[in-house]
Amino acid sequence: MIKILGCRGTIPVSGTNFRKYGGNTSCLYSPVSEDECIVFDCGTGITLLNSQEFENIRKFNIFFSHLHWDHIIGLPILKAIYNSKITINIFVEKKENFNTPDDFLKELFKPPFFPVSYQNLRANLKLSFVDIDKTYKFGSVYVNAILGNHPDSSLIYKISRELYSVVYATDFEQSETASERLIEFSKDVDYLIYDTTYFPEDYEGKVDGISKVGWGHSTYKHGIEIAKKSNARSFVLFHHSPEYNDNMIDEMFLMAKSEFSGTVCAYDGLTLY
Ligand SMILES: [Zn+2]
Ligand SMILES: [Zn+2]
Repeated sequence: MIKILGCRGTIPVSGTNFRKYGGNTSCLYSPVSEDECIVFDCGTGITLLNSQEFENIRKFNIFFSHLHWDHIIGLPILKAIYNSKITINIFVEKKENFNTPDDFLKELFKPPFFPVSYQNLRANLKLSFVDIDKTYKFGSVYVNAILGNHPDSSLIYKISRELYSVVYATDFEQSETASERLIEFSKDVDYLIYDTTYFPEDYEGKVDGISKVGWGHSTYKHGIEIAKKSNARSFVLFHHSPEYNDNMIDEMFLMAKSEFSGTVCAYDGLTLY
């Protein structure tokens, strides 16, 4: 099972205009066993794992696509990080300003930005840099990574289980090399979760006069091209713009579906398999 706990990009939103697709920022959850799970990104969606339903989890394996605010902001609010009975394996991309992977948490948990400092976290934390040449195995679940294309860099993940495979390509902007890499990586995948932050006209600057080219995000049109070339079974609209209300996302969903019938639109709580 893969459950989308948050699919909003950039900043969380709330209110009547965002009820259908939800307002939590990026987070995907996939159980491995009764007490172990894999999580991709810690946007505000991760706070849903604080509920009783998930209290049996004793081991979290968290992979970060990258460390922009909308993908990390939920981590300090995850109760498990303050529980000494819980193990949390954290995987981040190697960054120039980090000598060790722990530097990431030392920066994130630092007063005055957050009242609890790194030394006071109670979970059994193990941090590692992601090795893109490695296949990670958790029970019968495999995780692989490739480089994305985003300011400050990002990673794209593939989760493969016995019955299905899912590629998680958030915060990605198409480019000749990066798109080729993603097409190859997504070959015959069941679900391609893709950054569809903008309508094509908005991306090109035709809506507000501001071009979003080079900002590290993409459109459903570019995504569908990649989905078709990689023979993905389904294409998932993800990382919705906080400026797009439910009606606008409905409209994007319809347009995308007319070009690729296997299109699915992410909403908070959507379960893929
Ligand atoms: Zn983002
Ligand atoms: Zn980003």
